[in-house]
Amino acid sequence: MPAFPPSTDAEQSPAPDTILYGGTIHCLDAGLRQVSALAIGSGTITALGTDEEILALAGPGSRRIDLSGQCVLPGINDSHLHGVWLGARWPALMLESPGEDWHGRLLSGPEDRRRAILACFRLLASLGITSYTEPGIGPGEDAGETGCFGSDVLAAYAALAGTPAQTARVTLLSLHGLLDGASTLPAFEAGLSLPKPAADPRWLSIPGVKIFADGIPPLRTAWVEKPYLDGSVGTLFTGEGDLSERAATYERMIRLGHAAGEQVAVHATGDRTVEMLLSTVEALGGAGRLRHYAIHGDLVTPEQLARMAKAGVGLTVQPVIAAMTGEWMAGALRPEQIARAFPIDRIFGTTGLRATLSSDAPVATPDWRRIVATAAGQLDGRGLPVGRAELSALLRMMTAIPAEQDGAEAWKGTLEVAKVADLCVLSQDPLEAGWQRLPEIAVERTMVDGRFVYDRTAATGEAP
Ligand SMILES: [Zn+2]
Repeated sequence: MPAFPPSTDAEQSPAPDTILYGGTIHCLDAGLRQVSALAIGSGTITALGTDEEILALAGPGSRRIDLSGQCVLPGINDSHLHGVWLGARWPALMLESPGEDWHGRLLSGPEDRRRAILACFRLLASLGITSYTEPGIGPGEDAGETGCFGSDVLAAYAALAGTPAQTARVTLLSLHGLLDGASTLPAFEAGLSLPKPAADPRWLSIPGVKIFADGIPPLRTAWVEKPYLDGSVGTLFTGEGDLSERAATYERMIRLGHAAGEQVAVHATGDRTVEMLLSTVEALGGAGRLRHYAIHGDLVTPEQLARMAKAGVGLTVQPVIAAMTGEWMAGALRPEQIARAFPIDRIFGTTGLRATLSSDAPVATPDWRRIVATAAGQLDGRGLPVGRAELSALLRMMTAIPAEQDGAEAWKGTLEVAKVADLCVLSQDPLEAGWQRLPEIAVERTMVDGRFVYDRTAATGEAP
């Protein structure tokens, strides 16, 4: 009997379909386990351990893949990425393609929509991304100008769900108002009782609703506590009338979503907008299993972050957008407000806060290596040097923690026995290379549900 048996349930199981060995495998679980080999059977991780332990499990039909020192991470989960819009616009990115026209029709018929989704899947597979949240699809955008966010897009996702063509798992937030625009209480309330398409929730899950509560600070449309340079305090997009009426509508939407058992995800950039979400959820007794969260949180305060952790309200932030729009804020905000904006150090340092990093692509790049490196640079710039432990924590903010936000930590987000085999193979270990060199590390292969969907040398996935 071996002194240290590998963690495996393989004794009762058939031989693995696939074995990866000879690498540096970061499980990014809570204990930050590191192994050199893992076994996969029927799309699930069946064992983790040393090369010797795992290769001993091989049967005649097992495919053995020598990683030759390459590094494996759990598949990346981008918690805020407009997949259909990205697929339709790529390679254009809003903040990086000046002069591009971002208005006008992009998608018209079912073939267009399917093509855009598949283009998104292919792009994400090449980046090692195996899950994402599509933040806002639904009837609110049925007459939308781009055609990227309406109910027929939801139908296109549902048609692809669980088919071999789907190479990234999708979590989708329903949208009952305009994207980046107005919403009404009657439409929101009616939307909550709309049926959701039947799909395997591991491939297409629709746990909640998006509320577009406010705008963005540079345009003075974020609702703020301390006035902008021009004396205004921003606005809310929820409902009509004066700010207090709009605030009442916003609060009502949060309460309705919560009562309907929906995860409530709020576009909230101003501190007042965050405050209303937070105080409402506090009054409801906390987010509990619904795991409500704020998106962006540009002007969130340290005091709010601590309360968010306590109330179970998460936060998804976009370090690349922060880096690219910081100066743009100077025309609207006071210097002391700008100094406190995008408090990545406070977010990172708030114990118990469910905080994730994301792209908001195609607003900014979907390349998670740049997102993580940008966040690391921001921490470093605020006097928090990023070593192995901090970089591991940042990588968990794009793997394990988004899985928690998805309510899916029991089966995805880390490399552990009985979780799905969603992973990416990198040319180098980011923890060895350091965050400065992370953007240059190549994504060699991407696996979803035990199937390789991208191989850099072949520059193609396995045929669906
Ligand atoms: Zn967005």
